[in-house]
Amino acid sequence: MKYKKMALVLALGVGLSACNNQKPAENNANTEVSQEANNDKVDEKKVEKTNQNMESTSVYTSFYPIYNLTKQIAGDKFEVKSFTNLKTESHGWEPSAKDIADLTDSQLMFINGAGMEEWEESLEGSSDIELVNTSENVELIKGSHDHVHEHEDHDHAHEEENHDHEDHDHAHEEESHDHEDHDHAHEEENHDHEDQDHAHEHEHSHSHGEFDPHTWLSPKNGLAQAKVIADKLSEIDPANKDYYMENYKKIEDELNAMIDEYTEKFEKLENKNFLVSHQAFGYLARDFGLNQIALTSLTSTEDADAKTLKEAVDEAKNLGINTIFYEMGGSSKSADTIANELGANTVPLNTLEFATDEELNNDTTYQDLIKYNLEELYKSMAK
Ligand SMILES: [Zn+2]
Repeated sequence: MKYKKMALVLALGVGLSACNNQKPAENNANTEVSQEANNDKVDEKKVEKTNQNMESTSVYTSFYPIYNLTKQIAGDKFEVKSFTNLKTESHGWEPSAKDIADLTDSQLMFINGAGMEEWEESLEGSSDIELVNTSENVELIKGSHDHVHEHEDHDHAHEEENHDHEDHDHAHEEESHDHEDHDHAHEEENHDHEDQDHAHEHEHSHSHGEFDPHTWLSPKNGLAQAKVIADKLSEIDPANKDYYMENYKKIEDELNAMIDEYTEKFEKLENKNFLVSHQAFGYLARDFGLNQIALTSLTSTEDADAKTLKEAVDEAKNLGINTIFYEMGGSSKSADTIANELGANTVPLNTLEFATDEELNNDTTYQDLIKYNLEELYKSMAK
């Protein structure tokens, strides 16, 4: 499976995950160091795992939003570690054998779920760490393709045929019975354009799955996800349940105040449309009655095709959009192109898919980052 997916992407020769392209180059060099630093922090008090209450002193998390929420709730009771390097984009990342072997010092890992952790299945059979899906109570959004895209119809047709990209691979395997034939068979069945689209969808849905994985970007979901973390920590360490619940309560109060404030603000707006280069704000849009327009094929790819750009400009004009949002830490080039055409501004939004040194050093909270996004979105639509 893994091999095939990689081969497919390579064979297509299109850009890898948009997010991958966006990690600042200097962060790459730190990967090893950070991993080492993580490992050094591993508590020596390793204990034999039991099926009952957890006795290890650390828990793993998958990436920044989950890491930060867990840290806030666990406080000083658990060492909170990150499976991926927090400073690099976790999409498309695959753990090494060593990464997986290192997991033995914790009994559980909080993950986002909703297909965000593409490496989830590579742990099956090689680690018995329990993965706790923090989005288990979130109503997931089906992978959407409501972006400006010339091949939109193809995408839908493609989706109907296969229902989901994971299934697609499975179905494909059954048909071809041969990994090597995968790409060829794929080409025979579909047209080249559809191959392209398929890759684009991977690029933007990250999950290769059937749901939009970006649950954490809506504070309502973040709240539900924090609750799962608090409940689980209370379950494995009942002696400190009050402590975890108290820490959760602080997050809850902050997020509820934020949700109330922006529900009221957004309700009063006439213009509820916002345009983003990265289709990551579907949950936020749903929860606040907003309309996300995503220039999916633009994201960080610097050579966005002219037709997509033109469609985006037309749509933005029709909707009176004055701000083009791009992904913080990523390229703003495509957003700039449209913004110039429209006389609009470009403003970064934070997807929290990787953290900056500043955020890590200051322990910038999940709540602060979400609030930043809400305020920037509000300001753009209130103009
Ligand atoms: Zn994303």
